[in-house]
Amino acid sequence: MIPMQPATRRMIAADNFAPTEGACSCGCGLLPSDSIILAIQALVLALSREYDGRVRVLVQGGVRCQSHHQAVYAQVNAARAKQGLPPKKAPADSRHLPPSLDALDVRMEVRGDSGRWMPIPLDIVAMWARKLGCFGGIGLTEYQQDGRDIVHLDARPGRLVTW
Ligand SMILES: [Zn+2]
Repeated sequence: MIPMQPATRRMIAADNFAPTEGACSCGCGLLPSDSIILAIQALVLALSREYDGRVRVLVQGGVRCQSHHQAVYAQVNAARAKQGLPPKKAPADSRHLPPSLDALDVRMEVRGDSGRWMPIPLDIVAMWARKLGCFGGIGLTEYQQDGRDIVHLDARPGRLVTW
């Protein structure tokens, strides 16, 4: 049984996040850490300045309890099998998991003059994440190889890790 974070920790929820955004999608109540929410909020701000428009983040993968983590990897491996790729072992130390809970997989969009939301190229998102210096892990190319249009961002401490 994994304890939920106390509600008070959520009081610094950032502008662009609903209180339950990035929560484990199995409904167990696990929430992402403030560190990753604030880092992504900074990225939204930087991209808003770069594009001079409203930017939003679409969370494609939030934090996960162990049982949901296994389910996600079962899906990933089914997709890999279709492409004739070997299965990937679900990493036990993923930042999406407790105790870290500081990873989110995202896409980002900017609102064009017509009012339509347009995707920001993922390599631009990853480049800005790197430039800002508030992320510890940035994953892009491995997911592209899997045909998944996401950037993995996490707030691990220490030297930047990219893949
Ligand atoms: Zn869960």
